[in-house]
Amino acid sequence: VAVGLGAALTACGSSQKTVDQQAAAGGAAGGLVGVTMPTKSSERWIHDGDNIKAALEKLGYQVDLQYAEDDIPTQVNQIENQITKGAKLLVIASIDGTAITTQLQEAADKKIPVIAYDRLIRNTPNVDYYATFDNFKVGVQQATSLLTGLKVLKEDGSPGEGKGPFNIELFAGSPDDNNATFFFNGAMSVLKPYLDNGTLVVKSGQTAFNVAAILRWQAATAQRRMEDLLTKTYSSGDKVQGVLSPYDGLSIGILSALKSNGYGTPGQPYPVVTGQDAEVASVKSIIANEQYSTIFKDTRKLAETTVKMADAVLKGGKAETNNTTDYNNGQKIVPAFLLESVILNKGNYQKELIDSGYYKAEQLR
Ligand code: BGC
Repeated sequence: VAVGLGAALTACGSSQKTVDQQAAAGGAAGGLVGVTMPTKSSERWIHDGDNIKAALEKLGYQVDLQYAEDDIPTQVNQIENQITKGAKLLVIASIDGTAITTQLQEAADKKIPVIAYDRLIRNTPNVDYYATFDNFKVGVQQATSLLTGLKVLKEDGSPGEGKGPFNIELFAGSPDDNNATFFFNGAMSVLKPYLDNGTLVVKSGQTAFNVAAILRWQAATAQRRMEDLLTKTYSSGDKVQGVLSPYDGLSIGILSALKSNGYGTPGQPYPVVTGQDAEVASVKSIIANEQYSTIFKDTRKLAETTVKMADAVLKGGKAETNNTTDYNNGQKIVPAFLLESVILNKGNYQKELIDSGYYKAEQLR
């Protein structure tokens, strides 16, 4: 592919520049910005990409927006291409936060600034800023809503009537996504005392991150693991009462494993299942009393924050950050701007999602 592209560019000659080359040469007012997103298989990244693109274009930038369907070599090529096309800045939501080091070195050599979007890019000094949500807090919120769902806690955080012991199982996200560890550690910081005092019991004994982790956040893998847990740990008649799930896509897989094992009936309700991203299918599931909760991360705000950062940097200034301690990528602490997320359940989805205009009411019907 690279050879073909090189040949095509040479053959083009200077009189027949492509739109992108013109943009790179200053044809568009603000120059070209390369935006790479992990996958279209989850809605949130589609919203993220669309919002960033629209906001950058409004400011006069040209945008090359790419999705890699969770394939690392594809994302590597996309970043490579954006550098070749003369991108002035890169916004990257990485698939594997350690797999793009070579491309980022190229970017640095060409003085192209890089913003890590949502997910930290690791093991490279060549990342300038990080725009994300408070990922540890997302995990805290997931575990808190698990406790609320089990009535161990009331919504106001005070002790509830649920005394347990409750059987729970734990899921974590993709091990190559730095966020997954933050979510899991945040959740465990809340759950630990309840595990220690016996209110909660992980009946399978599978409490380690690497055992709970689901590579590339695949729903099918989560479904298989849940089925496995039900067969191996719960076949004697014990029931699972709570499942910590870090992402709506996984929650859907987990719920379908539960359903095929007899859960979701009046005599045997679903366990409390958490999630993340407030994806349409999962909000519908929450409305239908299947999934219990999700975490709403307003991707409009993340896009806005990122575009502000990009614009400041492209104009030669510094971007605003609010955290310079938490995100050590192995080579440097990446200055970050962290946004706040919200626990979402049946009680507040109307206010948070519909009234705020994030979704239209008919999308959730
Ligand atoms: C994001 C989450 C998302 C997950 C799976 C994480 O990096 O922060 O919002 O649920 O990836 O796409």
